[in-house]
Amino acid sequence: MKIVAAFVSAGICAAIAYAQQAPVLDAASRQLSRDVFKELIEINTTDSVGSTTLAAEAMRKRLLDAGFPAEDVVVLGPNERKGNMVARYRGRSGSTKKPLLIIGHLDVVEAKREDWTTDPFVFTEKDGYFYGRGTQDMKESDAASVTTFVRLKREGFVPDRDIILALTADEEGGKSNGVDWLLKNHRELVDAGIVLNADAGGLNMDKGKPVNLGVEATEKLYADYQLTVTNPGGHSSLPKKDNAIYHLADALARLQAYDFPVDLNVVTRGYFEVMAKIEKGQLAADMQAVLKTPPDSAAVARLSESALYNSTMRTTCVATMVEAGHARNALPQRAVANVNCRILPGHTPGEVRAELTKVFADPKVEVQLVSNAGVLSDQDENEMSVPPPPLNEEVFGALRSVVGQMWPGLPIVPEMETGASDSKITMAAGMPSYGFSGMGVDGDDVRAHGRDERISVESFYTGVEFDYLYLKALTGK
Ligand SMILES: [Zn+2]
Repeated sequence: MKIVAAFVSAGICAAIAYAQQAPVLDAASRQLSRDVFKELIEINTTDSVGSTTLAAEAMRKRLLDAGFPAEDVVVLGPNERKGNMVARYRGRSGSTKKPLLIIGHLDVVEAKREDWTTDPFVFTEKDGYFYGRGTQDMKESDAASVTTFVRLKREGFVPDRDIILALTADEEGGKSNGVDWLLKNHRELVDAGIVLNADAGGLNMDKGKPVNLGVEATEKLYADYQLTVTNPGGHSSLPKKDNAIYHLADALARLQAYDFPVDLNVVTRGYFEVMAKIEKGQLAADMQAVLKTPPDSAAVARLSESALYNSTMRTTCVATMVEAGHARNALPQRAVANVNCRILPGHTPGEVRAELTKVFADPKVEVQLVSNAGVLSDQDENEMSVPPPPLNEEVFGALRSVVGQMWPGLPIVPEMETGASDSKITMAAGMPSYGFSGMGVDGDDVRAHGRDERISVESFYTGVEFDYLYLKALTGK
């Protein structure tokens, strides 16, 4: 999944004009990255009929051709259609640094030929764009990673630690999530000190001009709850005050009035610190004031009026579906609602269930967790949710240096997203994970999962160069 538009809609309009002397991708690397990108787009990797194994094997061949030893590039997975490629770029011998892991999903969302202007599985260059399923999410970044590995290998570059590239299955759906499978079955292959994932965060642009670089450094947890009220019911000509619909409506009204406490973490603090410098006037002042301990309550109230800032500061829960009653002339025997929550890292669905039960304060309202498969339970699945560790200075230092070369002055904004990527799996495995890429997408041109998915040709090549410079900056000391 990929969400890149949040900050544009948050009111940052002033695009920064950058000089065009930024580093440019050389002709051979342009060709290589384009070839790899085309190859990936034209291998169907949808869950219905596609195969990530074919894409994984094709990328393996690219790396073997570039000189990687066969034992360092493997394709493995739970079945023949859901292969994952894991390549290890050996670092300096004797290095004590834990490996760097780069993850990228190979699978794509379904795309129907009849919905598209071009064939979604034919790589098409048209009007300054590359079209095809996966051009924004996220074969563009997979192609960049493979290109960077090939370039660095050919240069004879030796990183200061091992760099692992894992191109994986079933991020978008399906039963065989590759990151999860690798961690459970071959942890030694992917164990790392830092994880980079271009599927989250990203370079936000407005009319082709970079606005900021979002770096996803933590994720909210997704959880659904079912509220159920049952009642013996009866004839509606003889109503009683004790009514399933009234109980449910009352509980939902309490939820509407309730705000979870403001609880900033290192990432959301970093977010407001940067945003306070970008925004102006009252908004900037409020962002400063919310950073105080305790946060300024008037500032919290004003910021809470924005859905984005509100969700950044606290866990949120909202009613999304209701179903009640069975006949126009009968007292309802059953009233059910779905409440969807986005939980701050460091808290669990079980904790939130207890909090909701307290808010509703009505023993007639049963609150149960709903699993992804739709199964109801009273129990937390013991989902691990850790508050984010301090922002890694190596990761951000290298970022500042490369951003300074490519887009001087561009704000780097730490972000918390809502369970949008495989980073939630690596984070839960205790590996600090950061999401960003140099592939710029305009806020009004986000087509991931949609029809006529595309990326601008220049954005792609710029992103490929960014990928190369970044990896060198991080591991080339
Ligand atoms: Zn994605």
